[in-house]
Amino acid sequence: MTVLYKANMVRGAEWATFFAERAPNLPFRLWPDIGDPADVRYLVAWVPPDDIAASFPNLELVFSVGAGVDQFDATKLPAHIPLVRMLEPGIAETMVEYVTMAVLALHRDLLHFIAQQREQVWREIRITPAKRRRVGVMGLGQLGLAVLERLKAFGFPLLGWNRSLRDIEGVACYAGVDALPAFIERTDILVCLLPLTDETRGILNADLFARLPRGAGLVNVGRGPHLVEADFLAALDSGALSGGVLDVTEPEPLPPGHPFWSHPRILVTPHNASMTTPDTAVDYVLDVIARHQRGEELPGRVDRSRGY
Ligand code: NDP
Repeated sequence: MTVLYKANMVRGAEWATFFAERAPNLPFRLWPDIGDPADVRYLVAWVPPDDIAASFPNLELVFSVGAGVDQFDATKLPAHIPLVRMLEPGIAETMVEYVTMAVLALHRDLLHFIAQQREQVWREIRITPAKRRRVGVMGLGQLGLAVLERLKAFGFPLLGWNRSLRDIEGVACYAGVDALPAFIERTDILVCLLPLTDETRGILNADLFARLPRGAGLVNVGRGPHLVEADFLAALDSGALSGGVLDVTEPEPLPPGHPFWSHPRILVTPHNASMTTPDTAVDYVLDVIARHQRGEELPGRVDRSRGY
């Protein structure tokens, strides 16, 4: 019974160390050193290997090494094999840091000051108190909830939008497509933490930007294809939006010369908002394997019909 890892190899070496410490009797192998394919019961991967079913006849469970699964072509995986995504705490902790940084950067006009510094301009900007800056989060899953919890400390009025209605203390919650305009119209800094699905692709578009209060800011940490690039650039140029922090783009890496690189009101980071942390991810994977062996429900199991 072997666990096979096929993702980032530098972090894979760390996974191997933690597995050896915490589950010395469970063989752990790093791709391409797969050993006997018939021994592979568990696979941890960013994308599935080709011919996954034929290659690993005794595969029981597959982990996507990230929290999102849009990159994982689940059609390659036989329906009876569960696909589980990372619900490990390290991803949420790093995402909370990043979104806090991005929201505060937009709230306190950091992009504007960076542009002023390049021009050696000393000009103050009137400060808006946090209690007058409404922050809205799209997607109230493990990451959206963690982000909102941390943002409470700053005193922003908080809003959340989700497919199903949530009840979160201190957060005005909205649900479903019909409630999207009401949510958007009350949001000054919008954070996208949605999974990428057929319903959410292109959701950050001209219609939505037109409904945001003038001069709103955008943080996209979901996926690049959530954003309609041309609409975003037009909204920045017209002043409908004042700035954006983008951790995800389409394609990735963002190609040289792309207008996002040089736009003074856009901060781009290389899909680096959060990362699966080997230390905590190994504990999570071992816990899910144990639950699987006991025939229990699996936390983080992907609903393939919904796509997340
Ligand atoms: P979850 O599955 O825990 O949460 C997703 C949430 O989005 C759910 O609450 C779900 O609603 C809601 N949702 C799904 N579809 C819709 C829709 N059509 N309309 C409204 N709400 C919807 O995911 P995570 O919080 O773990 O991760 C969210 C996303 O963050 C990932 O899919 C990935 O794209 C991105 N991510 C980015 C990273 C980065 O480094 N930039 C790192 C990790 C993740 P419901 O509760 O009703 O199901």
